[in-house]
Amino acid sequence: MKPTVTDEVFDRVYETILRRDASLDGRYYVGIVSTGIFCRPSCRSRTPKPENVRVYESIEEARQAGFRACKRCRPETPGKEGPDAAMASAVTDLIRKHYAENLTLGDLAARLNVSPFHLQRVYKKTTGSTPAQWLLQTRLEEAKRQLADPSRSVTDIAAAVGFRSASHFSYAFRKAVGCPPNDYRGNNRPVSAAEEENKA
Ligand SMILES: [Zn+2]
Repeated sequence: MKPTVTDEVFDRVYETILRRDASLDGRYYVGIVSTGIFCRPSCRSRTPKPENVRVYESIEEARQAGFRACKRCRPETPGKEGPDAAMASAVTDLIRKHYAENLTLGDLAARLNVSPFHLQRVYKKTTGSTPAQWLLQTRLEEAKRQLADPSRSVTDIAAAVGFRSASHFSYAFRKAVGCPPNDYRGNNRPVSAAEEENKA
């Protein structure tokens, strides 16, 4: 099973909950431990405490964790906000499923039967980022998760998340995250139980 999202993603999603911001709707789903329901991040119910929030990348993951869909924001109805939002969430789904492959704007457009220009424009307008930016972000988030496994090499991870080469990966990672992949791994390795006790 996939581990939960990184702390950075959690913080980003929690920000949108506070602002009732719809920009991450369809990209992440928010399970509320105290109620057992999951919502779009923008759902206008009471703001949950961070410790009660779980962030999922798909409806299936939220369901598997035991959450039921919110009746107010209906996270399972992608077309709710109209055709543009439906197209944007279809693109986001395709990126989530195929990020590890060589995925171009043309591929996405062909799958959805629209022109690349139209797709790009609608996606940017709806979500604030281009498909390419979101693809890169998805790959980097996945890479961060895989870096937590010390047995995986940077080269393996680069290939597994869809980069053409380890050097492309390292360059993109450093540019976005601010340090090379191996440094990130060093700074974010899981804290052992003994260390946890020492802190307490
Ligand atoms: Zn809701």
